[in-house]
Formats: sequence, C-alpha cells, structure tokens
Amino acid sequence: MKSLIFVFTLMFIFSCCLDESEQIWHKGNLHTHSLWSDGDDFPEMIIKWYKDHNYQFIAISDHNTIAESEFWYEIKEIDKKNKTLEKYIKNFGEWVETKIDSNKQLVRLKKFNEYRLKMEIPDSFLVIRSEEVTTSFEKKPIHINVTNIHEKIEPLKGKSIIDVMQKVLDEVHEQKKKLNVPMFAHINHPNFRYGISTEDMKKLNGERFFELYNGHPLVNNEGDEFNVDTETMWDLINVHYYKEGKPLLLGIATDDSHNYHEFSAKKSNSGRGWVMVNSKKLELRQLIDAMEKGDFYASTGVKINKIDKDSDQLFISIEPEKDIDYEIIFYGYKEGNDQVQVLKRKKGVNANYTFQNDDIFIRAKVNSNSKKDSPPMTRETKKAWTQPVLLK
Ligand SMILES: [Zn+2]
Ligand SMILES: [Zn+2]
Repeated sequence: MKSLIFVFTLMFIFSCCLDESEQIWHKGNLHTHSLWSDGDDFPEMIIKWYKDHNYQFIAISDHNTIAESEFWYEIKEIDKKNKTLEKYIKNFGEWVETKIDSNKQLVRLKKFNEYRLKMEIPDSFLVIRSEEVTTSFEKKPIHINVTNIHEKIEPLKGKSIIDVMQKVLDEVHEQKKKLNVPMFAHINHPNFRYGISTEDMKKLNGERFFELYNGHPLVNNEGDEFNVDTETMWDLINVHYYKEGKPLLLGIATDDSHNYHEFSAKKSNSGRGWVMVNSKKLELRQLIDAMEKGDFYASTGVKINKIDKDSDQLFISIEPEKDIDYEIIFYGYKEGNDQVQVLKRKKGVNANYTFQNDDIFIRAKVNSNSKKDSPPMTRETKKAWTQPVLLK
C-alpha cells in the first residue's frame, strides 16, 4: 500500500510540474559558404566552428553547387597565408586527401554526404544541404537559398527581376512536390547592391522567407537615404500579402559567412545572425515544419525564453545578460490602416500585448544595449525578432 501511495505521489508530482507548453529552441545558421564556392575554409572546419559554438544545425549554402561532384581544390596564396590546409590536417588528420599535380598542391573537397556523415551527430547536431541559387538581372544580384535541396537548381535567367525570382521559387516548389521532402526557399540580402526591392517581393507567389538580417558587411540591412531598411520592407510586404490573401512573409537572420580565419568588421564572419527554432526534436522535417508555421525567431544575440500566444495576448520573456537593458516593442497592423505601427513599448525582460478587436497581425522585437562581439557595423547591438502572428 505504501509503495502504491509513493507511485501516486510521484505521478502527481510529474503531472503537476511537467510543462506541456515548454519551448525547446534549436539554434541554426542557414547561410554559409565554403571552399566549394567563395568561402575560405573546408566544410568540416566550418561545421566544427558552429558545433563548438553551441549551434544545433547548419546549412552549407554554396553558390550554384550542391557539392556532389569530384572537386580537387588548388591551394592558393591566400590559403597559404591563412594556413588553411595546415589547420584542416591538424583537426582531421588522415581524413584529408591531398595530391601534387603539375607542381600544384591539390586537396579533394569532400562531397556533401561525406562531410555530413563525418560531422553530423544524431539528435544533437544536423548538417543540412543548401544551395545559394545565384543569378542576376541586368547586373542586379538575385540570390535565393534553398534549404534541404536535393537536386541542383541552375541559375535561371528571365525577363525581369520578378520573373527570375518567380522561376526559382517555382522550381523549389516543384522539387519539393516531386521528391516529397521538406524544403524551402529564402530570399537573401535584398539590399545587397539594392538588387531586390519591396515592390519586387510584393509580386511574388509562394515566397515565405527572406533575410531580415544578413551578417555580411556589404548587404545594407539598414538601407540608405534612397532605400528602406529590411525591417520596414518586411512590414510593407506583409500588409500587401495580407490584402492579397497570401501567407505572411517570415524573417530570418543569417551569417552569410565566407571568412573563417580573420574576425573583423570588414569580413563576413560566423556568429552574427541566426534562427532559433522551437521543435520537440532536432529532426529536419520537424524543424522545417516549425519554421513554416512561424514557430521560430531571428536573433543577432538576444535570447528569448518564451513566446506565448493565446487568444488574448502575445507574451515574450527573454533570458537577460548581466547589466544589459532591454526594450520589447510590439508592432501591429490594424484594420483601416495602411501601415504597420508601434503598439506598445516596454523596458525590461518580459512584456505582453493584449490583442484589440481591430488588430490584424502582431510581431515583437527586442532591442538591447549589448554590443555584438563581431559586428559588421560598429554601432550594432544585439536584437531579436519574433514572427508575425495573424489574428484574422
Ligand atoms: Zn548572396
Ligand atoms: Zn551567400
């Protein structure tokens, strides 16, 4: 009898204290370059950096390749200066394949499935295949990443920026349907050489994700006197998508890392922007499903513990750094308005916004006065953005 009481007591303790709504956040970077295109390190070395820095997934997204051909890379002067091969051999020993051909030092780049199997740890670290489909229209760059791509997409040409972008998006949707695998496209750095405008993105069909933040120093996240910043772009597009009955656009943060040997504001380094995805398990289909549902946030350093949405309110709570000030801002689009506006500001580590009858969609942003470790711009501080919640 005593043991039965003990079992019931234990059951009670568990049932009362297990939090079903607990959120499990997985950290990942979806935009990364290696020697397969214009990055300056071997994929395994890059993946190792992310693993060592407490990420749970990474997508290697080289320009116009999915890393499945035979590729003997020639060591160049810059690689000698960076000691790229030396560091690779030091970390990976006999795994490294080299040869000398006509006095040239060559290293075989491991194919995607080789480096994935070497580096992936089930349930704790995922390596995802991606391609940065890299094309242009009249010298305007058009770059679209395809996360969990299976068949290479060629850099398509077209009659206009929109035509090129829509063709890539259509190919992604076609491949996803044909192979029945989870995958998605995201539009990269729209303000890079101001290639892709708000008006271009408004006209697209089937676009769900874009880079609200990209850590490359040349991408103009903040716009200039003639071009809006990416956050304003996001809201303008979503007002339009809502009116057109399209699903809302979701905003991600990425590194777009290329440089792994020298960390400075001028280089495109790792650790600047990432996504935190809420999923019970670290499994690719679950991660992509969660992202498509908007169950994630974009961050450049601020850590959110809880994003709670019920029928009445949106509640945000963050994990603070010592001696750092935070402000949580709720933005919303209301009936009868033509733009998104600030609805509430609150200083501190948690805040809620109570929905009003005329609210259509709401999102939150967290600002801080914490300086980034490796900022592409000196004044940059750590931030986070939650995804818009559609109420109507
Ligand atoms: Zn790019
Ligand atoms: Zn890139």
